[in-house]
Amino acid sequence: MVTRRKFFRNTFLASFAMGTGLTSCSQSAQSEDQKDNQPSTDFGTPPPVLPTVIATWKNEKAVAKAMQVIESGGRALDAVEAGVKETEADPEDQSVGYGGRPDRDGIVTLDACIMDEKGNAGSVCFLQNIKHPISVARKVMEVTPHVMLCGEGALAFALEQGFQEEDLLTETSRQEWEEWKKDSKYEPKANIERHDTIGLLAIDQQGHISGACTTSGMAYKLHGRVGDSPIIGAGLYVDDEVGGACATGVGEMVMKTLGSFLVVELMRLGKSPQEACEEAVNRIIKKYKDQMTPEFQIGYLAINKRGEHGAYAVVEGFNFILQKGDKSREFESPFAI
Ligand code: ASP
Repeated sequence: MVTRRKFFRNTFLASFAMGTGLTSCSQSAQSEDQKDNQPSTDFGTPPPVLPTVIATWKNEKAVAKAMQVIESGGRALDAVEAGVKETEADPEDQSVGYGGRPDRDGIVTLDACIMDEKGNAGSVCFLQNIKHPISVARKVMEVTPHVMLCGEGALAFALEQGFQEEDLLTETSRQEWEEWKKDSKYEPKANIERHDTIGLLAIDQQGHISGACTTSGMAYKLHGRVGDSPIIGAGLYVDDEVGGACATGVGEMVMKTLGSFLVVELMRLGKSPQEACEEAVNRIIKKYKDQMTPEFQIGYLAINKRGEHGAYAVVEGFNFILQKGDKSREFESPFAI
């Protein structure tokens, strides 16, 4: 009998394979019967992999920009930064950077992190008035001995590095916040299509992997709240020997399970990206089922050194965009419940 889970997985695989020249996810999302034949933890020399870029939600401009950087010979690190900057600068995207929804006090606070193929990492959280937190995170990685700067300290550092302060609250986001204040119900909506955290992973022409993650966090959060997105291992993790993973959705659960690190470590142990994403999601469901509202969503994306990818979410509605070489395609993620 085809279980619901298998049905969605199979639908996903079939739609993936149809009409694209992309490497099939069927290599990464294997059938239950094939699980026993998982590769060992010895990855050996990986076969040549097409440059690959994958991003949460339908962030097509970000993915195209990242691939453009890779095609002109850039590092995956340059690609992921340039890619997510597209989303950070877009006032229409109300969950990232400029135009992001504010916290309960009407203040836009941003979280971001970046990780390169050497295991270097940089991060900023609770940063205000800087349009490109991802570039500040990269500076933290490159010019300080630290990994993470927060709030006022992060802002002072950014200004010192030549970033300009600007008002990030757009009229649309301000008006929505004014509306929200009328009954002030805190109801995170994590599935607002095209309007959510961007996590972006890339493999460059040398086969190296980097990742970036940037967000304005949950709308109308408590002032001072920081989510998973800037936490190395939670919202993003990259290990160039294995692969990379990123997360979107309710950050608290991702933090409590160190989700992206978990996905990468599961891949290190021999799981495909698809299986690793599924296990990370299922672990959250098992542990925190009682705390989940119908709106509750978490989505993981992963790629490994072979260029295989995986995606999995708690409920329907998570989607992502994948580009290999010059071909890109949007997908609906399979989901658990
Ligand atoms: N993960 C983000 C956070 O918790 C929000 C999101 O992806 O929707 O801040």
